[in-house]
Amino acid sequence: MTQVTLEHIRAAHERIAGKVERTPTVLSQTLSEGLGVPVHLKLEHRQTTGSFKLRGASNAVASLSTAEKARGVVAASTGNHGRALAHAAKLEGMRAVICMSRLVPENKLDGIRRLGAEVRIIGNSQDEAQQEVDRLVAQEGLVMLPPFDHPDIVAGQGTLGLEMIEQVPDAALVLVQLSGGGLASGVAAAIKGVSPGTKIIGVSMARGAAMKASLDAGRPVLVEELPTLADSLGGGIGLDNRLTFAMCRDLLDGIVLLSEDEIAAGIRHAYAREREIVEGAGAVGIAALLAGKVRSDGPVVVLLSGRNIDMDAHRRIVCGEAPSLKEHAA
Ligand SMILES: *Cc1c(COP(=O)(O)O)cnc(C)c1O
Repeated sequence: MTQVTLEHIRAAHERIAGKVERTPTVLSQTLSEGLGVPVHLKLEHRQTTGSFKLRGASNAVASLSTAEKARGVVAASTGNHGRALAHAAKLEGMRAVICMSRLVPENKLDGIRRLGAEVRIIGNSQDEAQQEVDRLVAQEGLVMLPPFDHPDIVAGQGTLGLEMIEQVPDAALVLVQLSGGGLASGVAAAIKGVSPGTKIIGVSMARGAAMKASLDAGRPVLVEELPTLADSLGGGIGLDNRLTFAMCRDLLDGIVLLSEDEIAAGIRHAYAREREIVEGAGAVGIAALLAGKVRSDGPVVVLLSGRNIDMDAHRRIVCGEAPSLKEHAA
């Protein structure tokens, strides 16, 4: 499969204009002082539905043919992709079905229902939920849109990179979250397409960093999924990964891994110093700077990618209580 290019991303940006927010970039006084170069925060956690996932979902949904739109879309994500897909489908007047296991907490379920999607509760694991997705594709003709390994999803996430390099044209370094790699692939393709000298570093939690393990192994590998404060970064990259593994291998300049305490410090800093409420995944760029794991000779852009965190868990973390690794996701 060919990789997603700057042209794809520019087309996506036009396609989703008016459907997603253009989020602001602000200078962080404290992080700039700490690093000795300007540090800009891209406030994408303020995006509609609370994460950048709306960009990929909106682009993928808008790219469907009329016949596909009539059939509707389906996914097994209980997190930010599920929310984004539900919202994007509603905007197009389409049917969306989100499949999840019986173990998913009630508040998540309600959140997705409120966005207008049908919720199917099946079995006791994500695997069983995915089997229901496969059944709906085979028997009812729904179109599956996966959370990262799809060209229209990657191109949509890449629109974030276009905005970042427009807002900070002299960026020397960009810090971007890394899980399945749809975000990092799209952002890196956009930024390197416009500004080849800008470095892109992916940031993950140390607990279960599937893309890092896969890049080290030279092929997609399975890693044990462990609870983490950066719950939106959990999960594998797919052993049959078609797109994001190669793009991350070719485009990223490095990967930084963080401990749970470092991630908690990132959430706290975002709140206390930047006055921003972010989820664990959203805070990892800030956390990497605070932990002294990144240096730069020029301006840095740090992506805040999402804010969907349970507010009780957030309160406990900003109060400095030991983070409980369960039940913190909104
Ligand atoms: C999905 C997600 C990520 C990671 O994106 P990938 O494309 O899977 O690498 C980062 N932050 C938030 C808030 C997310 O929802």
